[in-house]
Amino acid sequence: MIVIDGSYGEGGGQILRTSLALSMATGKSVRVNSIRAKRSKPGLLRQHLTAVQAAARVSAACVTGDELGSQEITFEPTHLHHGVFEFSIGSAGSASLVLQTLIPALASLDGTSQISVEGGTHNQWAPPFEFMDLSLAPLMKQLGVGCGVELERYGFFPAGGGRLNMSVQGCWSKSALNLLETGPPTRIWARALFNGMPAHIAERELDVCRSQLKLADCQLRRVSSRGPGNALLVVVERPQLVSVFAGFGKRGVRAELIAQQVVSSVQHFLQSDVAVEEYLADQLILPMALAGGGHFTTTEPSTHLLTQLNMVSRFLELEARVTRDGDRWHVHLEH
Ligand code: AMP
Repeated sequence: MIVIDGSYGEGGGQILRTSLALSMATGKSVRVNSIRAKRSKPGLLRQHLTAVQAAARVSAACVTGDELGSQEITFEPTHLHHGVFEFSIGSAGSASLVLQTLIPALASLDGTSQISVEGGTHNQWAPPFEFMDLSLAPLMKQLGVGCGVELERYGFFPAGGGRLNMSVQGCWSKSALNLLETGPPTRIWARALFNGMPAHIAERELDVCRSQLKLADCQLRRVSSRGPGNALLVVVERPQLVSVFAGFGKRGVRAELIAQQVVSSVQHFLQSDVAVEEYLADQLILPMALAGGGHFTTTEPSTHLLTQLNMVSRFLELEARVTRDGDRWHVHLEH
């Protein structure tokens, strides 16, 4: 059994989800202790518990410690299978992160799976639906896996109640993926989503995008959801990949400030001349490692990225490392 110290590196939910994903994809059993030790509320929250239960369902795993607040689990997959699966987080926890726990394993099988997850679709500190749909899913296709994501209902913190549906059709290609130079953007656009609040909040976010990024394509969308919420998305399209930047409205924080943070991330990314932005960088490691490896350029590595590189080398025979070239970093995954 592989033993993972859940407090390593980033020490959050990602190391648990990655342990589950790699355990399912390789068939190796895992024990994860000190779960989410570096978070203010350590242990399994609803989103993480749903990820454990979902992983157990798709891989017929024997599990111990699968309860709310638990700081240690053992997970022994017995039979990974595709199929139609439905899960409910029961809070506004991120549906995308539950899906991301399952994709690597289901994409290792021939055949198609349909997965529905109810929870949050636009959460702070998690990939929003548009990130999954526009950025991650097309890259999965480049790695040989058909991956379609559909938003059935929006879900914002704290009410939740959103739903994402995903299909995954395996399996991984064995050729390397290289995302090094991507060329200038072909299109940049913004979308502000809102519900249960005055439209001017979302309008003011788009005004910041218009003035600072000189964007002409700014979409204002009133959506329906169980509770109020607001998200700002800026999408940078380039020939080989799409990058999605997101900010989330918060009571007491001015719309201009939320938008300014998103705009600054976009500006930093455009100036840095790299292919992959910070969040996609850590989320690409598992898919690339399970497929044929490859290389990409990115901005300064986050602890999420460094943790992922360490995790794949614990489960798979490959060299995972990062090198620096001035203001650009190169991630190498070599089988
Ligand atoms: P953790 O904090 O350990 O639960 O992991 C959070 C995951 O969500 C990481 O894989 C991050 O890359 C991802 N993430 C956080 N914020 C964003 C965002 N704004 N856009 C896309 N992905 C995000």
